[in-house]
Amino acid sequence: MSQLRFNALEKSSSKQAQKIDVPSKLSLLFNENVFSVDTMREYLPKPAFKAIMASKEKGSKIPREFADQVASAMKDWSQSKGVTHYTHWFQPLTGTTAEKHDSFCRPHEDGRAIEVFDGSALVQQEPDASSFPNGGIRNTFEARGYTAWDPTSTAFIIGTTLFIPSVFISYTGETLDYKVPLLKALQVIDEAATDVAKYFDKNVTKVSSTLGWEQEYFLVDLNLYNSRPDLQMTGRTLIGHSPAKGQQLDDHYFGAIPMRVLSFMQDMEIEALKLGIPITTRHNEVAPNQFECAPMFEEANQAVDHNSLLMDLMGRIAKKHDFKVLLHEKPFAGVNGSGKHNNWSLSTDTGENLLSPGKNPKKNLQFLTFFVNTIKAMSEYGDMLRSAIAEAGNDHRLGANEAPPAIISIFIGSQLTNVLDELEKVKEGKLSPEEKTDLKLNVIGKIPEILLDNTDRNRTSPFAFTGNKFEIRAVGSSANCAEPMTVINTIVAQQLKEFKVEVDGLIESGLSKDEALFNVLREYVKSSRHILFEGDGYSDDWVTEALGRGLTNYKSTPEALKLELNQKYIDVYAKNNVLSEREVHARNEIKLEKYSTKILIEATVLADLSLSHVIPAAVNYQNVLVKNVLGLKEIFGKDEFTTLAKDQIDLIRIISTHINAIKKETDTLLSACNTAKELTDFQEKAEAFSNNVKPLFETIRYHADELEELIDNNLWPLTKYREMLFTR
Ligand code: ADP
Ligand code: MG
Repeated sequence: MSQLRFNALEKSSSKQAQKIDVPSKLSLLFNENVFSVDTMREYLPKPAFKAIMASKEKGSKIPREFADQVASAMKDWSQSKGVTHYTHWFQPLTGTTAEKHDSFCRPHEDGRAIEVFDGSALVQQEPDASSFPNGGIRNTFEARGYTAWDPTSTAFIIGTTLFIPSVFISYTGETLDYKVPLLKALQVIDEAATDVAKYFDKNVTKVSSTLGWEQEYFLVDLNLYNSRPDLQMTGRTLIGHSPAKGQQLDDHYFGAIPMRVLSFMQDMEIEALKLGIPITTRHNEVAPNQFECAPMFEEANQAVDHNSLLMDLMGRIAKKHDFKVLLHEKPFAGVNGSGKHNNWSLSTDTGENLLSPGKNPKKNLQFLTFFVNTIKAMSEYGDMLRSAIAEAGNDHRLGANEAPPAIISIFIGSQLTNVLDELEKVKEGKLSPEEKTDLKLNVIGKIPEILLDNTDRNRTSPFAFTGNKFEIRAVGSSANCAEPMTVINTIVAQQLKEFKVEVDGLIESGLSKDEALFNVLREYVKSSRHILFEGDGYSDDWVTEALGRGLTNYKSTPEALKLELNQKYIDVYAKNNVLSEREVHARNEIKLEKYSTKILIEATVLADLSLSHVIPAAVNYQNVLVKNVLGLKEIFGKDEFTTLAKDQIDLIRIISTHINAIKKETDTLLSACNTAKELTDFQEKAEAFSNNVKPLFETIRYHADELEELIDNNLWPLTKYREMLFTR
C-alpha cells in the first residue's frame, strides 16, 4: 500500500463527529449576516430605502445620490459586525464564484488613514477580466471588464468581508457572466406574464419567476480525497472498482444520517441561515455517502445567488469537518451521480402562483393558460434547455438510467392529460351556451385543486409538472442554476407574447375573451402533443418512440452545444434582448473550450495514474508471483511444480495482458489528445475529444479495475471505493 493511502486510511478512521451547538430557535439566526430589508430600514434614510425597494420590486434605477447613502449604510452596518473589507461577488462563466477583496481603510493626506466606502465603490469595481473566460469577445475587444452592483440581490457578510452581489460586463457592454442574461430574462418574463395575467386580474402589476433548487452532493473524508489524484484534479474518480456493496440495497436512502455527516450538515445549515439561505430539507440520497439539501423556494435571482453561495459555503464548512464536498455529476462509477432539480414557477404581486390550479373557474383558466403556454414553449424551444444543461460531467448521467434521458419531454400526469384531451375537443370559434356549460364541466371542472400526480410522479422525466410548479430534473449538480432559469423564462416569455397577440386578435374579430383563450389554447395543445410523455423515460422503447416523434436525443455535450447556434434559438434570445447573437456565439465557444479542457485534463490524469500508479503496482505484484513460482520450482522440482504453480502462472499472464492493454491504450489516448489539441475550430475540437479521446477512458478503466481486483490489497496504491464511500 502506498504511504499516502495508508496514512489517509489511518487518519480518516480516527475521525469523530464534532459537537455543534444548535440553538433551539434556528429562526433567530436567519439573515443575521445579511443586509436584509429590516437592516436596510434601520440603517438607511427613508428616500434611499424606498429607492432600493422600488428597484427590487420594479427594477427601477436607483438615483446616483442614493448609492452613496446605501454604501455608507452598508459600511456602518458591516463595520458594527467587525468587517474590514468589501468585495464585488460575481458569477463568471468559469462556473464558480469570483471575488476581489478591497479594504475600507484608505490612507488620508494628513498622514492618518480612514475607512471609506462610497457610492462609486459600491456601484462599480474593476477586476482583471482577462483571466476569466469571455469567448470570442476577448479576441476582438479589450480584455477588460467591470463588475456592477446588483441591487435586486442582497449583500452579505462572510468572515470580515462584505460581499456585494454583482454582474460582470465587458467595457463594450457584452455580458461575461451568468447573471446579466438571467436578470434580462426575468425582466421579459415579468412583462410578458403580467400582460397575460391581466386577462384574469387587472390588479397584477408584476410577475416574478420562482426557483426552488434541490442540491445533491457526495461527502468524502478529506484525507481520503487527498489520496486520490483523480478526485483532486478532476472532481471524479477515473478508475476504481465498485464495492461489493453499492447501492443495491437502497439502505442508504432510508438510513439514518451518519453522526459525522450530521454535524457537518448542522454546521452548514446554521451558516446558511445566517446568510439568509432558507434551507429546510436534508436527507440521504440513493448512493452511499450521497446527500441532498433544499431550501424554500425564492424569487429566481435570489435563489440563483443562494445556490451559488451555498455551493461555496458547503466547501468551506466541510473542511472544518475534514470532509470534501463533491459537486461533480458523477464522482463514482457504478453508483448514482448527482443532480440539481430546479423547481420553477411564476408568481404575481397579488400573491398568486400562476401554475397553481384553484378553487374557481377563473383561477383554473388562468392556470390552464400558463400551463399550456409553458408546454408550448418547451415544444418549440425545449432543445435550448438541453443545451443549457450540457456539460462534461452531466454527460455521465443523462440517459444512463439514473437521471432523465437526453431527450427533452414533459410529464404532466394522467389527470391533466385528461384535461388537455378535453380541451382539444373544444369547438372552433364562438360557443353556444350549452357548449360553454360543457366546457366548464369537462375542461375547467376537471382541473382538480390538489393533483393526485403530485405524489405519484414520474421520476424519469426531465421536465415534470408537480402540482403547482414544473421541475427541471436534468440539471447537473455542479451547474449554475442561472442558465436553465434564463432559458425557461426567456422561452415562456416569448411564447406568452405570441399568445397575447393571437388572443387579442381573436377578441378583435368578435370572440369573447374566454372563447379566444380556449381557441388559442386548443391549437397549442394540438401542436405540442409530441413533447408530452407519461411513460418510462429510461426505457429503450422511449428512445425509438421519441425519434419517431421528431424529438432530439443528443447524448454528448458537443452535440447538444451545436444546437445552441440554431438561428431560431439565437433569434429568441436576441428578440427578447437577453443575449445578442454575438454573445450566444461567444458563450458557445467558452462552453466548447471548457469541455475540451476538461476531457484533456481527465485524459492527462488518467494517463498518469495508469503509467505511474497502476502499472508499477501490477508489476510489483507480478514480481511477487514470479518469485513464488521460481521458489516452488526450486523446492518441488519440475513435475510437481507445474500443478502447484498453475494458478500463479495464469495470474502472471493475465496481469501481463492487462498491463499491455493499459500501456497500449494509454499511448493511443495521449496521441488522440495531441491530435485533438491541434484543432482550431471549437466545435471540431470538442467533438474530437468526445469521439476519439473519451471512449478510451472506459477501456483503460476496465483493465485498471480488473487489476485492482487481482492485485494484493496491500500493494494497491489508490484508496478504494469501499474505503471512501462508507462514512460512519
Ligand atoms: P422532491 O420530491 O422533488 O424531492 P421536494 O419537496 O424536496 O421535492 O422539493 C420541492 C421543491 O420545490 C422545494 O425546493 C420547494 O421550495 C420547491 N417549490 C415549491 N413550490 C414552488 C414554487 N411555487 N416555485 C418554485 N419552487 C417551488
Ligand atoms: Mg425534486
